[in-house]
Amino acid sequence: MPASVADEGVVLRRRNYQEADRILVILTRDHGKVSCLARGVRRPRARNAAGLDLLGRAKLLLIPGRSLYVLAQARPVGAAGRGDDPIRLACAALFAEAADGLLEEGHPDPILFELVGEHAERLLDIGRPPRPELVLALFRLAAEVGYLPALERCMGCGRPLENRPGSFIPELGGVVQPPCPVPGGVSCEAATIRVLRALARGDFEVGRRLRWGPRLLSETEAVLVAHLRHRLDRRLLAADVLAQLVDAGAD
Ligand SMILES: [Zn+2]
Repeated sequence: MPASVADEGVVLRRRNYQEADRILVILTRDHGKVSCLARGVRRPRARNAAGLDLLGRAKLLLIPGRSLYVLAQARPVGAAGRGDDPIRLACAALFAEAADGLLEEGHPDPILFELVGEHAERLLDIGRPPRPELVLALFRLAAEVGYLPALERCMGCGRPLENRPGSFIPELGGVVQPPCPVPGGVSCEAATIRVLRALARGDFEVGRRLRWGPRLLSETEAVLVAHLRHRLDRRLLAADVLAQLVDAGAD
């Protein structure tokens, strides 16, 4: 562990520790992903707690501790206020969980940091619908770390995908279209496959221009969650919470 660290970071994971502490996993600009002990932050009126919610962004001072950095100072960056919409908070939690799963400790990467920071801000912006923002955020993150699904050709026969329904098969990392036999997976209508392909080509503006109907939203979310779960071999608990909220009609 080097000497003290002064850096800016986005919170990816929080775990309660002892009576009033938390262990935080933070993506920093210049030091990559680091864990730190935040002492006393669960006390009412804790001095250092601002900016340390999930996906919160803060300027941090970390000092070396026995086995972990200890948070000495945190000052929030950017607009506070994330509202209390449970769907938005679940989307934010899912993006944080996926980023935490995709990124290793250390490995500073300022471009990736800005990407995570930008999408964290958009997800928490109460002026934007969170579920389309989540799809764009997960897609760009997967693209940046080289985990995009294959969306040009049918994974069954290798022919270019056509403008018709198909099914995303996580084990194959791509889409299968009939007449190839479709072994389960996430079924997608033609529009979903079109949108996924546009995003895979890097056309993120398509996501901002679109009118996201419920089916397009649920299918693109389901594809990304199935894909990331398979690639990360990780449950992504926030995806279950989000699915339950959506089923219960909370949006
Ligand atoms: Zn085929």
